[in-house]
Amino acid sequence: MSHLDYYPPDMWQNVGGLEPKSFVCGFCGNRVASHTGIETRAQPPARIYLCPLCNLPLIFLMRKSTSREEQIPSPLPGQPVHGVPSELRILYDEARRSSSAGAYTASVLVCRKMLVDLAVAQGDAYRKGKPFMDYVGYLTKELFAERRSQGWLDRIREQGNKATHELGAMSEEDSLQLITFVDMLFKLFYEFPEMMKDEQDDQLQDAVSQSKPVRGNGPDPKPSGMPF
Ligand SMILES: [Zn+2]
Repeated sequence: MSHLDYYPPDMWQNVGGLEPKSFVCGFCGNRVASHTGIETRAQPPARIYLCPLCNLPLIFLMRKSTSREEQIPSPLPGQPVHGVPSELRILYDEARRSSSAGAYTASVLVCRKMLVDLAVAQGDAYRKGKPFMDYVGYLTKELFAERRSQGWLDRIREQGNKATHELGAMSEEDSLQLITFVDMLFKLFYEFPEMMKDEQDDQLQDAVSQSKPVRGNGPDPKPSGMPF
């Protein structure tokens, strides 16, 4: 879950049955199926479905301008990440929510700040006025041996510089690419190492428990430190 808490299932009154609908909840990020909510009399109907997990309401309506159904709030781009320091996770959630709300330029700028913070967290030196591309260069040279990542990082640098120094808005595609990239970096730098550490801890725990003598079978073990 992001910034919102889960609410109790009985918090809504006078809701009824709707035709079942599957969607990714824009609040809690879970894929769910719901058949509870309200709908308009007008055709095509606009519907409000309650998420069966977080119990928050999502609006589904048909946009005349696009003839497409729109979900409000739409699912957050990117994936939830684990093991990321809270200051970086807050920025990540902010970038995802900005993009989901259509604030793509804001999302790109948050991602840009996040990459600077990530480089510093990974050992780069922060200096006021230091060009953004220097931080990206650090991530490239120090943390990515694979040259194939260079194209990605160049794209990030271009987007970040454009969002900061040039007129005009950033696109949804710009925002989604950056969020996907940051998502990948977080998994690489935080989530995967933590997962491997947990696995090593489990293996160590298993090894320790297997080495313990089983009581009741055979003689009691000798006290530790005894010379015989
Ligand atoms: Zn939900």
